[in-house]
Amino acid sequence: MSELALLGGPAVIGEPLPPYRSLGAAEREAVARVIDSGCLSGFYGSPGPEFLGGPKVREFEAQWAARYGVKHAVSVNANTSGLFAAMGAIGISPGDEVILPAWTMSATAMAPLIYGGIPVFADIEPDTFCIDVGCVEALLTPRTRAVIAVNLFGHPARLARLRELADRRGIYLVEDNAQAPLAAENGRATGTIGHIGVFSLNYHKHIHTGEGGVCVTGDDALASRLQMIRNHGENMVEAAGIDEPANLVGFNFRMTELSAAVGIEQLRRIEEHVRPREELAEALSSAVRDLDGLTPPRVRAGCRHNYYVWMLRYDARRMGISRATFSAALSAEGFPHATGYAPPLYRLPLFQKRIAIGRDGWPFTLSNRTYRDGLCSVVERLHADEALLFEPCAYAVDAASTQRLCEALRKVHRQRHELVAYDRRNSIAA
Ligand SMILES: *Cc1c(COP(=O)(O)O)cnc(C)c1O
Repeated sequence: MSELALLGGPAVIGEPLPPYRSLGAAEREAVARVIDSGCLSGFYGSPGPEFLGGPKVREFEAQWAARYGVKHAVSVNANTSGLFAAMGAIGISPGDEVILPAWTMSATAMAPLIYGGIPVFADIEPDTFCIDVGCVEALLTPRTRAVIAVNLFGHPARLARLRELADRRGIYLVEDNAQAPLAAENGRATGTIGHIGVFSLNYHKHIHTGEGGVCVTGDDALASRLQMIRNHGENMVEAAGIDEPANLVGFNFRMTELSAAVGIEQLRRIEEHVRPREELAEALSSAVRDLDGLTPPRVRAGCRHNYYVWMLRYDARRMGISRATFSAALSAEGFPHATGYAPPLYRLPLFQKRIAIGRDGWPFTLSNRTYRDGLCSVVERLHADEALLFEPCAYAVDAASTQRLCEALRKVHRQRHELVAYDRRNSIAA
């Protein structure tokens, strides 16, 4: 039994873990072929066949739709853009309320604001970290136009129930599926259960094209509106015979041929890219399952979890030392991690000051919703006290380094009593 690295002993993980890279020869060749073609983007922002992009973009979309068993896949240059387009496509109008979880990447909550929609924050389930359906129900009003469910960390939100609730109320369910490319709820792929699902292909995700995203939908009208918002749709309104051009104020959210070519290759091997991240997370969960005070993430029955983030819940009372001290000891052992994830989103200055678009408080001037602390107590508690996160997508690990990661967790847990004095000193100093 060696001394804790924080107290001068040897670290379990001596070398930093190498970064995970999903790109290889297939992507390099695909990119070279696009460069040789001379055409790096096939889009034109006006009526005609090029309104829907070049050959690689279309091939990528067709393959994405086939892989996920959906009618339409609309590629975009980011999940963030895809969420903006989704809010536009479903017709968000100034003052409409959109219910979404307070714990997610900030882009989820910015999307409604672009159209004057009012983000309404719901709390999350303490064990799956996804939006709590009971909270959603309590927040519904006649102004609610949509719910955005986030399949956070790679675990499915309660999508079937949320879809049923949305359909019953005549509102939309949009899935932010950035972190869950192959997750599933009862055999149904996440991203395909809402009216629109939005995937991310940014560098940090399981598969990537540098930057990129895909919206999927089974609805022809929504697909067409997504395509118009993606590409200067104002020029298409007449040609498409649309009488009511609400929200068809176009952006340029177009994906390049280069990204699409990379995306085709990434999609071909998606299972190979996702599965090892899951195995790593499962190994970590097994390593802590019998340890008092550390709770590994729960996987709801019937669900597949992709583990974009593996999140441990830390119980300082049972552990006898603070999360900060445990975290410092883990870092000293070479275990890369973070405490907290994002703060509850309503703490962002734009919500606290109620200033988003322009200087006069629009769209908050259309609503009496407030963003005070205490809104989502589960998120606040997890963030402040319990969350300890590891990112399986960030590292390339083999069996030996997986073992060392597990051992680092078990070592600090086993010898935590040696840290009581350190903890006391530092909490007094803090
Ligand atoms: C990564 C991420 C986004 C943003 O994705 P981009 O493709 O970088 O725009 C949005 N929501 C969640 C939950 C994410 O993890």
